[in-house]
Amino acid sequence: MFHIRYSVVVPVYNEELLIEESYRRLKKVMDSTDETYELIFVDDGSHDKSAEILSRISMSDKNVKLISFSRNFGHQTAITAGMDNAKGDAVVVIDADLQDPPEVILKMIEKWKEGYDVVYGKRAERKGESFFKLFTARVFYRLLKSLTNVDIPVDTGDFRLIDRKVCDVMNSLNSIKEKNRYIRGLVSWVGFKQIGVEYVRDPRLAGETKYTLKKMLKLAMDGITSFSYAPLKLPLNLGIFLLAAGFVYLIVELVLKVAGVDVSMENTVMAINMILFGLNFSVLGAFGEYIGRIYDEVRDRPLYIIARKVGFDDGKTGERM
Ligand code: UDP
Ligand code: MG
Repeated sequence: MFHIRYSVVVPVYNEELLIEESYRRLKKVMDSTDETYELIFVDDGSHDKSAEILSRISMSDKNVKLISFSRNFGHQTAITAGMDNAKGDAVVVIDADLQDPPEVILKMIEKWKEGYDVVYGKRAERKGESFFKLFTARVFYRLLKSLTNVDIPVDTGDFRLIDRKVCDVMNSLNSIKEKNRYIRGLVSWVGFKQIGVEYVRDPRLAGETKYTLKKMLKLAMDGITSFSYAPLKLPLNLGIFLLAAGFVYLIVELVLKVAGVDVSMENTVMAINMILFGLNFSVLGAFGEYIGRIYDEVRDRPLYIIARKVGFDDGKTGERM
């Protein structure tokens, strides 16, 4: 079979204004590698002419492939479908709107050839984006980092190159099957040798962002729920605090009473209230601990991932060919 060196996965949703230019720039960059490649466009249920344009391109260029969804399933799912179908030794994920300059792929390939398994694009600067987008993105990446033990690099999107073995480990059909995928987090979670390359994120070439506020919120929630139990643990912490404070309150009151100070009934009610609420929250927190574990079990991520084995009979070392 024809061996493919690089796969470039491009999620597309209503991008008729720029998709041809996007194809031209990607083709130019990939041709310059002098190696084999495929461009996999994933049409995420576009309502405009994107699919038509792409199927025309794929008929005239044998390196271009098209996956068309039956409806809009979302950016992360489109990337997943592309990765599941990619054949290359290295797989690059890049947005269609040319905000991620295709020329950076060459730098990523260089790092890959040095031996890195994941090369992610780190946004040194973001041009042409609203204050709201920049602010929320900045806060979100840092909030997520503070909530999780997984080392997810800040200011990093899905623009990255991953090695074949990382792509295999992330396959949605037989490895990481979870549905609410936060891909940039999962790539960090699987480990391997990772490095970033800095780049300046350009303004969108044409059209409007396809990430509505609703989609941004969904992505943010996916990021947090996929990599943190902090919200589930919150009631337990609150419960323990209220319980402790309530007891101290009650004891201080009793001591004052014994000492002959006139303590009002309201204070006693208040202290008992705190203790009861504390109990309530503690029980909720205990439920949270179980729910977190149930989530872990049903999500069914691999328990561990082996980067390489040495000295076993199967002869597999995990080394790159
Ligand atoms: N996209 C997609 N499905 C969606 C939304 C977006 O495939 O439901 C694609 C879109 O065409 C683009 C990429 O995902 O190639 C990133 O979207 P966009 O540029 O609108 O997001 P932003 O850069 O504004 O965060
Ligand atoms: Mg964009």
